[in-house]
Amino acid sequence: MQKIDKTIELAGHRKEDLSVCLGCKICASVCTVNDLGIDTNPQELLARLFLGQEVDRDVPLIRYCTSCYRCTGACPWKIRIPELVRALRESLDMASPFEKAFKGSLRIWGRVYEPYVFLMSVPFLLKEGYMRHMVKWTEYMSIHLPHKVKRLNVSDGEKGRS
Ligand code: SF4
Ligand code: SF4
Repeated sequence: MQKIDKTIELAGHRKEDLSVCLGCKICASVCTVNDLGIDTNPQELLARLFLGQEVDRDVPLIRYCTSCYRCTGACPWKIRIPELVRALRESLDMASPFEKAFKGSLRIWGRVYEPYVFLMSVPFLLKEGYMRHMVKWTEYMSIHLPHKVKRLNVSDGEKGRS
């Protein structure tokens, strides 16, 4: 059984901090996982925590959150949702394959080495059917697929000024 207040504390929050949530769902609209077509709603998670309701390991956000912080960046209150997710994983004894890979990379190279993280996550990605999202993931990893870039027509006058 989870101790919700302890979990919130573990994430460095107080329960009152969650009461500021406006319910605007901006977090859901920018969520990376939602963008992949997996139905997640960070605001719903906050509401459950605030009401002291249990969150189980099958909640998609707990399983798939990538800790990208897009939700925090867009939230008017900058609520640190991924830290709550990590605290919940800790309390549910769930290891995220991404976090394990990040830590492994830090142990070996002292930095996050993306190809290593990707390779270590492949079994999980295959098992969970993530591979169909690979094209989208390449955008998030800033590995953009080759595409034509429109040439700018800079006039001679502008060239002279630069
Ligand atoms: S940190 Fe997690 S909840 Fe927030 S946008 Fe990224 S995947 Fe979604
Ligand atoms: S963006 Fe922030 S204030 Fe809006 S619903 Fe999400 S957590 Fe609440």
